[in-house]
Amino acid sequence: MSHLLPDGAVHLAAVDAHRLAQWLGGGPRTVIVPAGALEQHGPHLPLGTDGLLSGRIAAAVAERVGALVAPTFTFGYKSQQKSGGGDHLTGTTSLDAQTLIALTRDVVGSLLRQGVRHVVVLNGHYENYQFLYEGIDLALRDGGVTADDDRCVLLLSYWDYVSAESLEAVYGDDFPGWDVEHGGVLETSLMLHLEPGSVWLDRAQEHPPARLPRFDRLPVVADRTPPSGCLSAPTGSSAEHGRLLFEQVVRDLAADLVAELG
Ligand code: ZN
Ligand code: MN
Repeated sequence: MSHLLPDGAVHLAAVDAHRLAQWLGGGPRTVIVPAGALEQHGPHLPLGTDGLLSGRIAAAVAERVGALVAPTFTFGYKSQQKSGGGDHLTGTTSLDAQTLIALTRDVVGSLLRQGVRHVVVLNGHYENYQFLYEGIDLALRDGGVTADDDRCVLLLSYWDYVSAESLEAVYGDDFPGWDVEHGGVLETSLMLHLEPGSVWLDRAQEHPPARLPRFDRLPVVADRTPPSGCLSAPTGSSAEHGRLLFEQVVRDLAADLVAELG
């Protein structure tokens, strides 16, 4: 049905309103909303890494399932020391929870009111998740969308699609855990595959995974974050690992959307 759209169109922002209306009228439609952050990722990755990755995964999935991709949320909820190094670090430019909840509520609500049947919020920044969830819940409440409605919203973080086989292939026995995968092997490998011109591996710093307390302390004790800003080192990253991760995640996520949404 994507012949209703300009050839190869996958981004909502690049489609005209008249063809969009036709497309929406032609069947149950899905729009994917990628979410990221503007957040320091050490000396070797750009601030926009989280949104770049969720946006690229969203575009590849959309191509497979015939969906459109909304503009990425390029700011996210505050980076936390135990998952992103902390909000005190230069370059990290964050939203308060109320702002992210409101943004999500407004965008998801607007898409549903225009006739989008399924919205998929594809998260790429660890700290966003519960606030995206809240924004979606409020949008559904605003729109009176209940369980017997055929409209729905899915929410996911892309790393939850990385399979055990991919983990084994990329990390062997050294997987440090998703919370400390900040500026580490996953993001660096994906960036090497997708945006190699924006990775500066010669500037990467070698260090063991961060060992942080079980509690959160506020204000943070800044020097508990490794000086690199990364919570694990990118040592062992490669474009080949990135390709494997990207293709596996896109394939499994696309299959899930087809199974769940038809
Ligand atoms: Zn990140
Ligand atoms: Mn992040």
